[in-house]
Amino acid sequence: MDADRVVVALDVGGTGMKCALVRPDGVAVRTERHPTDATRGPDAVVGTILDVAVGLADKARADGLTPVAVGIAVPGVVDEARGVAVWSANVGFRDVPLRDLAVSRLGLPTALGHDVRVGGLAEARLGAGRGAGHVLFVAIGTGIAAAHVVDGAAAVGAHGAAGEIGHIMVRPDGPRCGCGRPGCLEAVASAAAIGRRYADQAGESTDGAVTAAEVAERAAAGEPLAGRVWQEAVEALADGLATGQALFDVATIVLGGGLAQAGDRLLTPLRAALHERMTFHREPRLVAAALGDEAGCLGAALLALDALGVRDHQEKR
Ligand SMILES: [Zn+2]
Repeated sequence: MDADRVVVALDVGGTGMKCALVRPDGVAVRTERHPTDATRGPDAVVGTILDVAVGLADKARADGLTPVAVGIAVPGVVDEARGVAVWSANVGFRDVPLRDLAVSRLGLPTALGHDVRVGGLAEARLGAGRGAGHVLFVAIGTGIAAAHVVDGAAAVGAHGAAGEIGHIMVRPDGPRCGCGRPGCLEAVASAAAIGRRYADQAGESTDGAVTAAEVAERAAAGEPLAGRVWQEAVEALADGLATGQALFDVATIVLGGGLAQAGDRLLTPLRAALHERMTFHREPRLVAAALGDEAGCLGAALLALDALGVRDHQEKR
């Protein structure tokens, strides 16, 4: 691939879109952010996605670059083979043929991917999991989801829903999850759940008033309730990750999402709790994500490059 070629990449979230022009070697040469404003409805969101993609392609050409493909990452259930955003709670997609819409609007080959899976792809190939071969990327934010990446490819699943580690049941008598079942991992240990559980038990009213980062801080300062809620989350995460390790036997687990920003306050006790749970399984390396919130955008670009068949080029940089 020539050095002047770029991929138009978009990572569409519930509140914002992270967008970039990405070179075949995985380097972003221009980045942009745009509001999603999902309250406008899915049609308007799709319109914005296409407008932003066209705008980036135009800017690439104006800079003497050649846009060769489009990569789009979206949350929810994604049928990557058909290029359809099947379902999304926070953007409102219901069977949106986003890939075909982008192809007809931009006239460029387009790949559609799942936000966490492509984030895992980027961390495994360009970030904290680089060189590991077998990587489990776990994003802990409002919910918890994972991507199992083997030799640079993320498993999609038969129905586009692989990696829903947040819905592993870890506490049968635990709090009810948004999915309807009790005791799912994300009902105990997502960033949102940690804040909510602390506020509930502290008698502090409004939902979301205390963030997980604040709970971590109060726990580190020695506050007993915060310490208990934080430790419960760590233990639940360790149970979930131990299940993941039993299933996938990875070399490296990369923790991403908002909760990973707690750094050693999370990683140190979690490494210890995971270590306790390992019997004959080999203990994976547990590290924080390296690419921050650009992982989804870079991963969307990688997916598009893979579809063009230029993966080797990128991996040998
Ligand atoms: Zn659940």
